[in-house]
Amino acid sequence: MKKLIHLFSVLLFVGCSSNPVGPVATFKQDGLVISVNAEVADKIEATLKSELLYIKTIAESDFKNELLKTLSSISFIDYQKDNCARGQVACSDKMNDGKIFINQNFFQMPSIEQFTALLHEARHLESQNFEHMKCSKRPEWGYECDESINSPYGLEYKYLLHKFINKKDDQSARVIQKIFLRVNKI
Ligand SMILES: [Zn+2]
Repeated sequence: MKKLIHLFSVLLFVGCSSNPVGPVATFKQDGLVISVNAEVADKIEATLKSELLYIKTIAESDFKNELLKTLSSISFIDYQKDNCARGQVACSDKMNDGKIFINQNFFQMPSIEQFTALLHEARHLESQNFEHMKCSKRPEWGYECDESINSPYGLEYKYLLHKFINKKDDQSARVIQKIFLRVNKI
């Protein structure tokens, strides 16, 4: 349901009201049709295009199809300032079919983490029965982890591992490790 990045909690605005939804742009590619607020459409489009380029190179067709199918659950990426709980960068709600909310904290992350945050929320939208559970690797993180590889955090991990498996740089390793700690049984 929710993706919590404690690192960015200090950046949150407190007490500001939600923006009304303004002009909307629509991103269409590879079977995805995603509306997004016009003010952030360029950034979202650049991220999606770049990752879709990578997804198309994935040789394992089951995994490629899984990613595209999961992403197709997203119909609207709604950018508002304080739409998610404190400290979150993105969230979704069973009551808002196909809609993901993002806020200003979302854009503080590197593009790859923005994408996996969308993938995470898309998995929630797709299945609607993933409730996060207690973190067994880091109990101090509370109930913001998942049990298996099929979960929202599990899918993030699977994607990052696939993309960065041969990369030896610290940044890639850090991003993978961060999500690895959120999946209890891998
Ligand atoms: Zn979640």
